[in-house]
Amino acid sequence: MSGLHKKPSSELAQMLRSGEVTSVQLTELFLDRAEKLNPLTNSFLKINRQTALEQAKHADELIQAGKAPSVLTGVPIAVKDNLTTTDAITTAGSKILENYLPQYDSTVVSKLRAAAMPILGKTNLDEFAMGSSTEFSAYGPSKNPWDLERIPGGSGGGSSSAVSGFLAPIAIGSDTGGSIRFPAAATGSVGAKPTYGAVSRYGLIALASSLDQVGPVTNDVLDAALLQDVIAGHDPMDSTSLVDSLGQMADFASKTDVKGLRVGVIKQLASDGFQPGVKARFDESIQLLIDAGAEIVEVDCPSFEYAVSAYYLILPAEASSNLARFDAVRFGQRVLPEGNPTIERVMAATREAGFGPEVKRRIILGTYALSSGYYDAYYGSAQKVRTLIQQDFAKAFASADVLISPTAPTTAFKFGEKLDDPLAMYLNDVATIPANLAGIPGISVPNGLAENDLPSGLQILAAAQNDGVMYSAAAGIEKLQNDQWGKRMIDFAPELEVN
Ligand code: GLN
Repeated sequence: MSGLHKKPSSELAQMLRSGEVTSVQLTELFLDRAEKLNPLTNSFLKINRQTALEQAKHADELIQAGKAPSVLTGVPIAVKDNLTTTDAITTAGSKILENYLPQYDSTVVSKLRAAAMPILGKTNLDEFAMGSSTEFSAYGPSKNPWDLERIPGGSGGGSSSAVSGFLAPIAIGSDTGGSIRFPAAATGSVGAKPTYGAVSRYGLIALASSLDQVGPVTNDVLDAALLQDVIAGHDPMDSTSLVDSLGQMADFASKTDVKGLRVGVIKQLASDGFQPGVKARFDESIQLLIDAGAEIVEVDCPSFEYAVSAYYLILPAEASSNLARFDAVRFGQRVLPEGNPTIERVMAATREAGFGPEVKRRIILGTYALSSGYYDAYYGSAQKVRTLIQQDFAKAFASADVLISPTAPTTAFKFGEKLDDPLAMYLNDVATIPANLAGIPGISVPNGLAENDLPSGLQILAAAQNDGVMYSAAAGIEKLQNDQWGKRMIDFAPELEVN
């Protein structure tokens, strides 16, 4: 079974169906790798050997009976620890939920169970998904398999390091401002944020409800499309869930011809602020697209200049309201203060002990932005910027089928580099945030090696509900990249070894 851990899930699925391998064998293989390598990468907060193997056995029975409910039946998966699971503690990377065992499965997890995909474990994240590096996790940062002294992106660095280090073949992430796409870019993997509402948020521990979206983290575009097909679909438990299912993406991801594709280069995301290597790889990809017959147009999105500012008002505003539920009564930890334990004092002591610095910063920012007297100046203005960004996108998509940009300004940075400078950390999201503000789909695909011989990412955006167009374009660009380099970007990653 050598080399199996590096195969795409689509190929593993075929091997499962043809009987070349069983789900129990595959699940054991990845559990062994995860248990061995997790001390290096800290990708998983919890590895569920027993339940994963039970689920794998069930998957094998279904496959043998010819009753596999999904293409991916039997393929094991890792799940970000902000999705509730009834059989595993769900911490959202926070101390306040250290011992929280949910009463219900998130819809995404229910869908994975219905597809009989064994859940290997729960992956690390910045506390409540606030961050770009996993350094804000209460359980220590995850490490980038390309260079263990560097961040694997965030907030979903647990899922990205698990997939790029081959501790899991495929994973689930969540993206509020880039937490699927930046980790993918930083680790040479693929991360897709579907159209807002395509995947249910029921059981996703809310960060900012108007921006949050669950999506796939994988090692190729087809796998991302296959996984979206498993997790997408209308859910009566989520009132913002789309009625039209965006769950037939695999066919789109099989179309790789970019001839005639109108590709918009966003003027505001193609000039300043990117590392030279990141920019050079981006320009080379534009040339690859031109050579393959795509039509390149420049699009102007003037309001993007204000996207980061608007996002860092809207997100904290929504987060401060969402996090009010952690009141020492209903969920998680309860800390008793010294002296008289009134409800307010218990609440204050619990939140003081349970929340980390970034969460506190955002609660303060959010409540300030929402306070009467400041509401119009901050939250109200940010909402107006959001509308302007949506209008910029609408105009851009009139002349282009997809838009492209580098996914992030830099390759993976070192631990500590941005930790004490919140603004520097926030600016890292400059290219990913606009998609969340507009609710449109976006994907990051590997885009060659840049600074420090580390992967850079190419972001592809499509109009709302045009996830299929996004997957086709992404598959096309991925093929051009793979043909150019002779193998997948992820195959350049160093093999993780334990001494
Ligand atoms: N880095 C962004 C933030 O800190 C993205 C978060 C996310 O997508 N969950 O808000």
